[in-house]
Amino acid sequence: MNIPFNKPYFSGKEADNLTEAAMSGHISGNGKFTKKCHEFFTTKYGFKKVLLTTSCTDALEMAAILLDVKQDDEIICPSYAFVSTANAFFLKGAKIVFDDSEANNPNIDADKIETLITSKTKAIVIIHYGGVACNMDKIMDIANRHNIFVVEDAAQAIDGYYNNKALGSIGHLAAFSFHETKNIISGEGGLLVINDDRFIERSEIIWEKGTNRAAFFRGEVDKYGWVDIGSSFLPSELIAAFLYAQLQSIDSIQDLRKKIWNYYHAKLTFLENEGKATLPTIPNYSGNNAHLFYILTNSLQERTEFLKFLNNKGIKAVFHYLPLHQSPYYKAKHDGRELPNAVKFSQQIVRLPFFNDITTIEQDYIIDKIFEFYSRKQ
Ligand SMILES: *Cc1c(COP(=O)(O)O)cnc(C)c1O
Repeated sequence: MNIPFNKPYFSGKEADNLTEAAMSGHISGNGKFTKKCHEFFTTKYGFKKVLLTTSCTDALEMAAILLDVKQDDEIICPSYAFVSTANAFFLKGAKIVFDDSEANNPNIDADKIETLITSKTKAIVIIHYGGVACNMDKIMDIANRHNIFVVEDAAQAIDGYYNNKALGSIGHLAAFSFHETKNIISGEGGLLVINDDRFIERSEIIWEKGTNRAAFFRGEVDKYGWVDIGSSFLPSELIAAFLYAQLQSIDSIQDLRKKIWNYYHAKLTFLENEGKATLPTIPNYSGNNAHLFYILTNSLQERTEFLKFLNNKGIKAVFHYLPLHQSPYYKAKHDGRELPNAVKFSQQIVRLPFFNDITTIEQDYIIDKIFEFYSRKQ
């Protein structure tokens, strides 16, 4: 059997929406489908203001512009992270101060954040890893007491919750991804969420190349021109049309993913019961959006053997995130603190194949091979 790691999923409505967008004569950005997507997100998740972007990376770069991140500002972010999470702020000249992960969860260690804050700290950028919520009460409390901002990198967190609040609705700003490896996809694509009123007006200008074009089309100004910095962050209507088809099916997509996640979890608990490996932990304040499923092996050597074994059986399991504080680009700029949990997750995580139409037969095959690996090892 050959089981890929990921397969893009189509709800069935994408082609119709793409045709409709193409036939409408408006395929550049900020048209009918963009508005439909915007309305969907604000209505369903209570986000104050949203703007589709061409990627989560772009949304994070918009966040850096909105926060006016400058040379010598400091940004706190987890080391166990995707490159863009840090790079978006580094691009503006910020120093990245890396925090460790929690011991039993790849998310940022909220208890250590306060020790990293200085008079130069501008923002805390957090990732809800695998759609599992960070400890947002703690993080928002620290940010409010120090008068700094919180950006949620919610790339993996669509339809995730912290207590009863949608992830992406809590920080001052948030960024989502619709890259083809996420729950809801448009090939490449993203979303910036603006929850703080102070950033709303400027966000549209930055989105539209530094012009007040959006206000012009609403009839609020009689001509538009260059009013601030910006770039071309908005996606074409073709991307929005594709995305909207996915959003219309979000509930059934999420049902499918939760079933897959629960199946893996139920069938693999023996690993934890027998002390052979660890499964994802979901704190009681977090929902589960079933973005990914991982097994935490006991060592790098075991992980290497495990991945090789699975790959030899046609199962495309993978690992990810080399800790950014040890990356070739940032290593020499890091202040030298050791971040053992980030290193542990980097060395020990194995992500199992996870896509909406994976079959029970395929899942059973994977589970069977995992069982075989851990039986052989005894
Ligand atoms: C996927 C991902 C990104 C990047 O998303 P793009 O849309 O590809 O730019 C950023 N951060 C995290 C945590 C991600 O998982």
